[in-house]
This record gives sequence, structure tokens and C-alpha cells, in this order.
Amino acid sequence: MRFRHAVAIVSLSLLFAGIHARGDESLPIFDAHLHYSAESWAALSPQAVLALMERAGVTGALVSSTPDDGTLMLYKADPVRIVPELRPYRRQGDMVAWYRDAEVLSYIENRIERNVYHGIGEFHLADASQVDTPQMKRVVEIAVERDILLHVHSGAAPVSALFAANPKVKILWAHAGMDAPPAVIGELLDRHAQLWTEVSLRAEDIAPSGNLDPAWQALLLRHADRFIIGTDTWAVWRWPVYVGLIEQHREWLRQLPHDVAEKIAHRNAVRLLDQ
Ligand SMILES: [Zn+2]
Repeated sequence: MRFRHAVAIVSLSLLFAGIHARGDESLPIFDAHLHYSAESWAALSPQAVLALMERAGVTGALVSSTPDDGTLMLYKADPVRIVPELRPYRRQGDMVAWYRDAEVLSYIENRIERNVYHGIGEFHLADASQVDTPQMKRVVEIAVERDILLHVHSGAAPVSALFAANPKVKILWAHAGMDAPPAVIGELLDRHAQLWTEVSLRAEDIAPSGNLDPAWQALLLRHADRFIIGTDTWAVWRWPVYVGLIEQHREWLRQLPHDVAEKIAHRNAVRLLDQ
């Protein structure tokens, strides 16, 4: 009797260990912040990037690149896993004044005709006044006309200005505002039903020393449908650490209820991007 009891306990713990291990390995991740810019494509082939995604358990990625050709190269290599978005930057220098540059706008208007893009971005806005240009008005209009996202790296104010310009716009807020605290992110998500956010570069805020921060935990539970994972491969050195960046996110995801973790890990992105 005692033996059978012991066997039952052992089997039960093996079962839990099995569930735990399976959960760890198989939680698929959608990475909503991948760049395959010129320096990266000089260092890694599209196949090498796809192999890294495979190793990291990344089942899909929203990709934008400087210039856009990098995105199209990756997309050609895997049109199922790669979801392209159109980055307005033809070269790094465009980042500074793209929002008021007529040539950049023509570049966007021409490229967007390919009809493969699920968003415009990731682009940078330093303050709300930068939303107020004829070029930006047109960018917002294009996104609404085509029902695609704007992927915005900015503080809270430009996000509000974009929604004021057109409440129908859909925004993916890069890095959850980079240094925005949970209260600010929560307030913005409360106010705008068309806002989603990805948490690239935020793993250490979400889980300092690996433990889920209580304010972040409350926010992730409250807006479980609006958070998405991201890594941000903005420089070549991000690729050798790519698997670790994904694992860093998995570590805090494991501390959430499984259904919430699954939403943030991939379900929200798949639904938003109509994958
Ligand atoms: Zn960014």
C-alpha cells in the first residue's frame, strides 16, 4: 500500500515535471519587433535568421528594416512566418525628419502598393507636434484606408495625438513607451481600444532579477489582450543573444496564468495581425 502510494506520488510529480517542461519549451512566441536592416543582412542570411527563430521557438515575427529590402528578403524566404511592415527609413538618417519629408512619403506611397504590409513602422516620433504635418496626416490616412497598424516608438503624447488625428487608427506602441511606467501604459490602454503594445527592451522592468513586478503583473492581467512580445534586433549584436532575449520573456510569462501567458506570447499578435 505504502509502495503504491509512493509510486503514485512519483508518477504525479513526473507528470507535473512533464507539464512544466512541455510548457517551457512549447510556449510559442510571436516576436513583434524584428529588424533585418542592412548591417544585419550583411552578417546573417535570411536562412540564418529563420533558423534562430526556430531555435528560439518563435513561430512568427513582425519585421521592419532600414531599408525595407531586408524585410522583403526575409518575407520571400518565409512568407508564412514573416509578417512584413513598411519602415519609412530608406537609410538610418531618415529617422530624424521622416515625418515632414515629402520624399519619404512618396517612398511609403510607392512601397505600400505591394500590398504585403500589415503595418507602417517601426518609426520614431519625439513629441506630439511631429504628428501635425501634412506627411503624417497622410501616413495615418493610409493606415486607416488599408486597415493596417502604425508601429510607433514614442512617449505617450504622440500616441494620443495620433488617436486625436484619427480615432480609427490602430497603433502598436513599441517598447510600451520605452520608459513609461505601468500606470501610464494602463491609462493609455484604458483610453484607447485600438491600442496594443509590445514589450521589447522591457523584460528587466517587467521582471527585475527575474521576478514579475507586482504593478506590471496587475497591468498584464488587466489588459491581457493588448500585450505582445518583442525583442528588437536593432543592431547585429542582438542576433547572437536572440534565443536568450526570447527566453528572458518566457521567464516572466511563466509567472502568469497559462491562458494569459499564451495570449501575450502569441495569440494577441496572431489575432491582431490576422495571421
Ligand atoms: Zn524602437
